[in-house]
Amino acid sequence: MNLLACDRWSRLVPAILAFAIGVIPVRAADDVIALKAARLFDGKSKSLVPNGVVIVQDDKIVDVGSNVVVPGDAHVIDLGDATLAPGFMDAHTHLTLDYSGDYNVRRLKELDLNVSEQAIIATAHARATVEAGFTTVRDLGSRFVGSREFVDVALRNSINKGVVVGPRMLVATKGIGATGGHFDPTSGFRDFLFGREPDYTDGIIDSPDDARKAVRFEVKNGADVIKAAVSGGVLSLTDEVDTPQLTPAEMAAVVDESHRLRKKVAVHCHGDQAAREAIEAGVDSIEHGSFVKPETLTRMKNKGVFLTPTLMATEWIMSKLENYPSALQAKAKAAAAARSDMFRNAVKLGVRISFGTDAAVFPHGQNAKEFKLMVDLGMTPVDALKSATASNAELFGIAQKTGSLEKGKLADIIAMPGDPTTDITATERVFFVMKEGKIIRNGPIVQQATKTTQPAEVGVPAD
Ligand SMILES: [Zn+2]
Repeated sequence: MNLLACDRWSRLVPAILAFAIGVIPVRAADDVIALKAARLFDGKSKSLVPNGVVIVQDDKIVDVGSNVVVPGDAHVIDLGDATLAPGFMDAHTHLTLDYSGDYNVRRLKELDLNVSEQAIIATAHARATVEAGFTTVRDLGSRFVGSREFVDVALRNSINKGVVVGPRMLVATKGIGATGGHFDPTSGFRDFLFGREPDYTDGIIDSPDDARKAVRFEVKNGADVIKAAVSGGVLSLTDEVDTPQLTPAEMAAVVDESHRLRKKVAVHCHGDQAAREAIEAGVDSIEHGSFVKPETLTRMKNKGVFLTPTLMATEWIMSKLENYPSALQAKAKAAAAARSDMFRNAVKLGVRISFGTDAAVFPHGQNAKEFKLMVDLGMTPVDALKSATASNAELFGIAQKTGSLEKGKLADIIAMPGDPTTDITATERVFFVMKEGKIIRNGPIVQQATKTTQPAEVGVPAD
């Protein structure tokens, strides 16, 4: 071993040891890493290529393709009969929350669990998500009734600083909605239990002027993306699932103010009327879309509005109906009965689909189960993979940095066993995760930070 190699190993070995005991993600200093696998999906192409190679230096991809020549000094990681892919991106998560258990237990905990404790629990959700191969998420709403904390902003910043292991987050803070609507955190509680009606500082608005104030307030406090609830939802106690909840003038104000500040707008929307009005207002994505009709889907396609279907959320609620009050069960059944046809229509009509799950409605880390649901409802495996990579990067506005395996992009790279185009459930078995050149996982998870299947903790309805 020459001196140079010796020096390289002296830097690599402590890093490998640290990884083995599950402490910190590995970054082999300024070494060149060559990742090899039997196949590679670049995020954009229609098919996989054989003998995939990605060359990584620092936080970037410096070369990528089939049978790329590996530099002599590279540290080679051969992942075998696997597929390399860009890190997955989920357009709809709530990493600070967990609604996956009993609904009423969660509502009680909402009133007694300290928000600081919930922030600590959220770090485990972040780890579970990135370990599942999701290196970027759009986190669409984080609020705690009676609290002014911005836990999603704190979590994003802590991840960016390397204090917490998790995905890159684009956060929405409170989410904007109407008094008594899906996002009103006091809905369903006795009137004035919390001493006052929520206002724009809680994301609750009742006029176009309020809408602008709420957007400005959220951006001031760290929002990367704006979320609004334009129709009712499943997991809220006092509304109907498909009624419109913001006026066209309020929606127009939300979109105009957000776009002036160069923020995209994602809207929670199950109902068709609300979807039509939101599309007219110029939103960037419709979340859920359960009851959206073919004519409305055609308008979405024509205007380039993304659909984030969140099939996993409905799937989870329907499999655990006994966990929800009867009023919510009825709403869930109605949404579930409509959404499969809606999704098939969207695929047929060529609406742009953004992979998004509503993680928090189900336990964090199970995001990849959405892929099979999409494929079962008519999407091709490659299109499903694209929706979670290059397409989402475009929706998120970060396509110049990530979302595909290309020279100069950030080294967000995952590997899954076998070929996901012949068995889409391979996406559920990601075993290698690199984010910005740092290896977060290579093989089975060494240290499970927490159980993510515990009964739900705190927060207000998301779905
Ligand atoms: Zn949600």
